[in-house]
Amino acid sequence: MTRYEIILFDADGTLLDFVQTEKVALQKTFAEHDFLLTPEIEERYGIINKQLWNDFENGLIAKEEITNQRFTRLFAEIDIDYDGRLFNDEYLNNLACGYFTIPGAKEICAVLSKHCRLYFATNGIASTQFQRIEGSGLASYFQATFVSENAGEPKPSPVFFDYCFSQIPDFDRTKALIIGDSLYSDIKGGQQAGIATCWFNPTNLEAKNNIKPDYIIHDLTELENIILP
Ligand SMILES: [Mg+2]
Repeated sequence: MTRYEIILFDADGTLLDFVQTEKVALQKTFAEHDFLLTPEIEERYGIINKQLWNDFENGLIAKEEITNQRFTRLFAEIDIDYDGRLFNDEYLNNLACGYFTIPGAKEICAVLSKHCRLYFATNGIASTQFQRIEGSGLASYFQATFVSENAGEPKPSPVFFDYCFSQIPDFDRTKALIIGDSLYSDIKGGQQAGIATCWFNPTNLEAKNNIKPDYIIHDLTELENIILP
């Protein structure tokens, strides 16, 4: 018997390599237009995008504003005369083709899926996340994928977690564990929802805001010791 039978995995930064995915999609979309993409522009895009996601996660803006605004704002700054929304649609298409996984992701999911029920619990745009998870080769190890767009609110909102729990057959809080790279979305969210938490911290960030995960791992292979007998 394993201690945790229901495993909720965050997607981006935990099993899917979003940094690599985003980089490749951005380069591809810029290249399709012959727009110059310097490291500075890439960095500027990252800052704008992050700010918009933060505003959304803090309830300050609607989700559409992220996708409406990120390239519109970037293009205004760097003097590119092109519809930011249209470019965003093209970028999302390229993003959905990004199938990069974090080292060890496939191996650990293959092992855990023999003993536990695995679920994706991710913020993001449903169609993009479904396509990426399908393309990553991980989907077959998972029972279901829960995306914030369908849940009504993003992690760490209890609305998101309640939505996940309601979709999991025979859900038992005491047997559930969430694993994610975000202290705020995944760990604080999981704690508020009353389940065990495991912080995936590959770059040795410092824990902050008094958020104390039940487990901290730096490599996905460490999950075997936590979850399996
Ligand atoms: Mg993440």
